[in-house]
Amino acid sequence: PDPDLARDVARALRTIRDFPEPGVVFKDFTPLLLDVPLRDRVVADVVARRGSGVDLVIGIEARGFILGSVIAHGLGTGFVPVRKAGKLPSTTHAVSYSLEYGEATIEVHQDAIPAGARVLIVDDVLATGGTAAAAVELVRRTQGEVVALEVILEIGFLQGRSRLTGTTVHALLTD
Ligand code: AMP
Repeated sequence: PDPDLARDVARALRTIRDFPEPGVVFKDFTPLLLDVPLRDRVVADVVARRGSGVDLVIGIEARGFILGSVIAHGLGTGFVPVRKAGKLPSTTHAVSYSLEYGEATIEVHQDAIPAGARVLIVDDVLATGGTAAAAVELVRRTQGEVVALEVILEIGFLQGRSRLTGTTVHALLTD
């Protein structure tokens, strides 16, 4: 147990207003990547919670790649990138979801997740939940099993959890 972890992570997150557009309060986790002991405590926290119950970690482009990779290393599992449309070179599954303005599509390589694999999805921030819900759907297409979604920060008022019923969601911090 690491009772001060949430407090220390909160201190390491930087808030930038009106980025990338007016009205958005951006939570920048890059300072956390420079604090090696804190980064390692975040990984240890996930490892303690998930134990040996994970076969693969999925990271969502782009910040989920960074966090997901260090967590996969800590868990001793492989890592699978979920990318924006058109970036993955081999055959993919694709899922589209709606954004405030327009639509986005994310993809995963069809052969990256064996049927029955226990998958942990990782991202930095859970906002509206659209991205995470699409990632859950991608895992279902491969017949993998989503163990949980792990994020650093959940932005509570956006109610992303409501789009993730049936999925275990763990946030280190809620705003
Ligand atoms: P959403 O699909 O609305 O849950 O948005 C989640 C994705 O957008 C994640 O990949 C986050 O990295 C990013 N994101 C959304 N809102 C923020 C925010 N306020 N600060 C940092 N990243 C955000």
